[in-house]
Amino acid sequence: MKMNNKHQIETYCALCLNEVPLCKSHIVSNHLYKDMFDSNHRLLLVEDDWRTRFLQSGIYEKLLCAECDSGINLFAEIPFWPVWEKIPTTMHADHHIVAKEDAEHVRRFVLSILWRASVARGDTWKHVDLGRKHNELIREALLNRDDSILNKYQMWATLLVDENNSVQKGLITTMVLSRQNGHAVWYWVAGGIEWVVMVTSHRYQGNLPNDVWVKKEEEALLMVRSWKDSISIKHHIRCNGPYPG
Ligand SMILES: [Zn+2]
Repeated sequence: MKMNNKHQIETYCALCLNEVPLCKSHIVSNHLYKDMFDSNHRLLLVEDDWRTRFLQSGIYEKLLCAECDSGINLFAEIPFWPVWEKIPTTMHADHHIVAKEDAEHVRRFVLSILWRASVARGDTWKHVDLGRKHNELIREALLNRDDSILNKYQMWATLLVDENNSVQKGLITTMVLSRQNGHAVWYWVAGGIEWVVMVTSHRYQGNLPNDVWVKKEEEALLMVRSWKDSISIKHHIRCNGPYPG
């Protein structure tokens, strides 16, 4: 379980672990929310049990020092945006290919978001915990800009569309934990993509989803799927019932 030490939360940077003034850091970048704000620049967030609240921006908390906040953004997030922008808003093919040279930006981005959610203490992420060992492995890799971590975790992604083949770039869910033969698998939707990351110390030998492979030094194939078939969305409906509106 996550430690809930207020002193630690508010005085120690989650990345460099130094006791320094913290700034408000995002968990899922505002860039992913940019198409979702209404005319009053508000964003409707749907949380567990379909409670809704309006936000003026993404979800922030005091998590990182200013240096780490800007460092992790430069290293793990900003390189992903051009890759994301290349995804068409309407998909006529049944897949989208992320070029070989872009695939590692995807992997780094995905891992950094999952880590942020895991070390964050806000209510939206309270159930997300990769465990101390993986939190520490990923923290060190992000801090030292060590890309060897990218091969350690198997990950997949699927592009979610509606009935008009429109990519649901505005869809965001919190993370959901599933287990595959005892291995932890985290699912979530952000930026119109369902991300799947297996967080385990052992190489998984069973059958893996062949929807997509996001491997270092190889191109990544994002298969297109209806958003209604997203495992994250199905889980949300199973736990909370259909949307009451
Ligand atoms: Zn720091």
